[in-house]
Amino acid sequence: MTKAFENNELWWVTGAQLLYGGDAVVKVDAHSKEMVEGLNASGAIPVKIVYKGTANSSKEVEDIMRAANDAPACVGVITWMHTFSPAKMWIKGLQTLQKPLLHFHTQYNAEIPWDSIDMDFMNLNQSAHGDIEFGHICARMRVPRKVVVGYWKDPEAQRRIAIWARVSAALADARQVRCLMFGMNMNNVAVTDGDRVEFEQRLGYHVDYCPVSSLMDYWKKVTPEETDALVEEYKQLYTIKIDETGPEVYWEKVRNAARAEIALRRILEANGATAFTTNFDDLGDADVNSPNFVGFDQIPGLACQRLMAEGYGFGAEGDWKTACLQRTLWVMSQGLPGGCSFLEDYTLNFAGEKSSCLQSHMLEVCPMIAIDKPKLEVHFLGIGIRKQPTARLVFTSKIGAGSKATLVDLGNRFRVIVQDVDCIQPKPMPKLPVASALWIPRPSFEIGACAWILAGGTHHSAFSYDITAEYWGDFAEITGIEFLHIGKDTTIHKFKRELRMNEVYYLLNKALQ
Ligand code: MN
Repeated sequence: MTKAFENNELWWVTGAQLLYGGDAVVKVDAHSKEMVEGLNASGAIPVKIVYKGTANSSKEVEDIMRAANDAPACVGVITWMHTFSPAKMWIKGLQTLQKPLLHFHTQYNAEIPWDSIDMDFMNLNQSAHGDIEFGHICARMRVPRKVVVGYWKDPEAQRRIAIWARVSAALADARQVRCLMFGMNMNNVAVTDGDRVEFEQRLGYHVDYCPVSSLMDYWKKVTPEETDALVEEYKQLYTIKIDETGPEVYWEKVRNAARAEIALRRILEANGATAFTTNFDDLGDADVNSPNFVGFDQIPGLACQRLMAEGYGFGAEGDWKTACLQRTLWVMSQGLPGGCSFLEDYTLNFAGEKSSCLQSHMLEVCPMIAIDKPKLEVHFLGIGIRKQPTARLVFTSKIGAGSKATLVDLGNRFRVIVQDVDCIQPKPMPKLPVASALWIPRPSFEIGACAWILAGGTHHSAFSYDITAEYWGDFAEITGIEFLHIGKDTTIHKFKRELRMNEVYYLLNKALQ
């Protein structure tokens, strides 16, 4: 993977007009340059901002927007009206723009220079006026955008731009995502299925079925030397913990898990895929004891754990929506400290105010969220077609606040649901050797879980300590899909009203398109 966001740019366009003469535009230009350089130098915005000059006419605006559409590096456009920029000149450009838009309501100088302010100063520093006019045309044209208000040197304003920058870069990545499904959706499961055509049209992700036999072609070609080298890497990274299987079975299973990881990584690379799903009932030949057996001897849990940490989106049981969302979550959170993972709601713990929900999976939890060095263990796993001792990384999650996100298909639209949670310390679970997290949904277990169920949320989710609801709100705004946030202020009464209102809004919206 390349350095985070190094191939991405944000384009900054300053709105002006020629009414105030050429001298004014020269000053506008100089101020804009200084601001863009200042924002880049602040280190607060992870994507480089490129100043694209002032736009002084309808034609200039349209030309810039067309160029932004055509520039692969450009992942979004930031607009700011230094002076007054009559907004009819933005109509054609806004109709043209197909990239995310952020409208920054700011000003070159922080305070009014009380002693020296005159009419010239006021005419030049007119974003109070120009940005309002620009806001009107965006509202009238129903242009999706993020509005950030604040002084450009203010860390809070920069933080909000940075969030949108990460989302915009991740959505540019989403358009490049190819998700391979090794096997299909698990039989009869509704929530992990949906409309893959609409998914690509709306969000950009391309999802392909890939026969497990193709994966096995890669598996067959992995050499023992390659497998040994990867096992050596495991020894460096993880605590080796040999239990009931004894060393012989332990190392055999770890070696086979390493071989599966190499095969998976190779087929993903060969297909330009950055997300994938597995199905625990579809792992190659059915009978492991057949003389010419070709298949994984165990579910490739360890491989999924490690590939997730590398940035491959993962969804279990054919869950292509969560796989793609997990990829986007990883891209958005590059360079942030907390980590992210695919997780599944497993078991409830009723304990009054501390009632919580245990998150895990059969094995596939990303070690980025581990509280300490993961243990590499092998234990019997009685799920799916391979009831075998199986290698896996075992850990519990970091303690602290995070957010889980999911995307569901409601038939007429996609809905993103985000829930804030607090990860707490679990009691020891000596007989459950899998990676896990234990969390309390906000505002409380009862209200949080109730709202999630009312919204039709999944049992799988994409979880992060860094990526908050504001990111997912920007994600939904840019892509035009529904967004619901369950957090500290949620009440069931208000939440049900929002669900009913959204139902009407999206039905009407669809009818009007
Ligand atoms: Mn699952």
